[in-house]
Amino acid sequence: MNQILIIYTGGTIGMVKNADTNTFVPFDFDLISHNVPELKLMDINITVHSFEQIIDSSNMNPHIWVRLAKIVSDNYQQYDGFVILHGSDTMAYTASALSFMLEGLQKPVIISGSQLPIGEIRTDARENLITALEIASAKKNGRSLIQEVCIFFNSKLFRGNRCIKYNSAKFEAFRSPNYPTLVEAGVHLKYNTNDLMDNTGKEFILHTAIDTSVAVLYLFPGISPNVMKSILDSDCRSIIMYTYGSGNTTTDKWFLDLLRKAIENDKIILNISQCKVGAVELGRYETSHWLKGMGVLSAHDLTFEAAVTKLMYLQGHFESNADVAHYVEIPLRGEMTIVD
Ligand code: ASP
Repeated sequence: MNQILIIYTGGTIGMVKNADTNTFVPFDFDLISHNVPELKLMDINITVHSFEQIIDSSNMNPHIWVRLAKIVSDNYQQYDGFVILHGSDTMAYTASALSFMLEGLQKPVIISGSQLPIGEIRTDARENLITALEIASAKKNGRSLIQEVCIFFNSKLFRGNRCIKYNSAKFEAFRSPNYPTLVEAGVHLKYNTNDLMDNTGKEFILHTAIDTSVAVLYLFPGISPNVMKSILDSDCRSIIMYTYGSGNTTTDKWFLDLLRKAIENDKIILNISQCKVGAVELGRYETSHWLKGMGVLSAHDLTFEAAVTKLMYLQGHFESNADVAHYVEIPLRGEMTIVD
């Protein structure tokens, strides 16, 4: 029988209504096992590791990512797969962060949760949990079919570092705008084998150093030099700059001068598109030609969640910004596609 470790962090999946305030508050895992008696019928040996303080995922932070990564690493040999139950709000950040922290995974780490609490009649929690467990224990020739960090939600398994939370009202909470769905759960589980990560033969390495010194600059027509300056002059090592379309910005001299000065001062400027689908293509238009020339880096088709956690991981790993700048443009865990 496959051994699966469920790590329960909190989120709506385990929430109950507080009668006094009429708001959802976190409860403990007993509620989940009580509400899914089917778990006992599955051909899986399940162990539950419940956080003593369960959280709404809006309170997620890098210390908890380190804790989660260590739990997976400490239990890596004993278990065939891991299912992390997590709120949906920051699930894509956790999935992205863990993908960088757990290098060379040969076992599944599947993050799931739900839009409705597990105790509600119309809940999506039961199907999400049961199918996540089934996929986490799926093997072929003794090897796990899934060898990466994923999100399972609303009948779909996605690569974790490709996901965004897209909808807060529908069961279809997540999308993977620039990478195909890995598994579709219908009558059968349909594995898109060509798109799965294969880490066979790689060494599993845990990385726990994180440097959160990242800022965000969201461009809009009319942004003022003072606003730009306040972000570029902050003490952050890197700035994720949200640009238009395929990576374009204004070509106003004051704007380009401020960016050039920041890069001369050893700031990492990572160009990410405000469009969810598609990629940054520096130099495609004249408006981004100047950016490339001065050393602005391309996030290609990274999600924001993957960009911010990749920078935190690389900054934790490397002291030199030149190293961070080099690796941020290279795919490390299937998080980006580079189209020439
Ligand atoms: N606020 C909740 C959380 O992220 C929403 C959810 O669980 O889906 O923890």
